[in-house]
Amino acid sequence: MRVLIVDDSSVMRKIVSRGLRQAGFKIDEILEAGDGQKGLATQAQKKCDLILSDWNMPNMDGLTFVKELRKSGDKTPIVMVTTEGGEGKVAEAVQSGANGHIKKPFTPDTLRSTLGQFFK
Ligand SMILES: [Mg+2]
Repeated sequence: MRVLIVDDSSVMRKIVSRGLRQAGFKIDEILEAGDGQKGLATQAQKKCDLILSDWNMPNMDGLTFVKELRKSGDKTPIVMVTTEGGEGKVAEAVQSGANGHIKKPFTPDTLRSTLGQFFK
């Protein structure tokens, strides 16, 4: 199981990464990308099994990242990790192909209950 974390904050990428470990998921590798563009490039090369993406990022934001990835035919589950809790935004992300949403700040319990379905 390979996970891709897309976030412009290196601190937040580490927090998400640590949270995934603490949640007890079996993960072989965690890859990181600093914006949507880099996320697309990394995913094209590495074919991760689950993607966690921030919303607000420079160069390419999370929503555009979701749209571009789906446009390319990639069906990998994408969960938005964001402070944007607005129903409209979440709905837009889901409509664009996102598979779920985690609100910051989160606990390992939250990660477990939200992401468990994506780990086999
Ligand atoms: Mg951000």
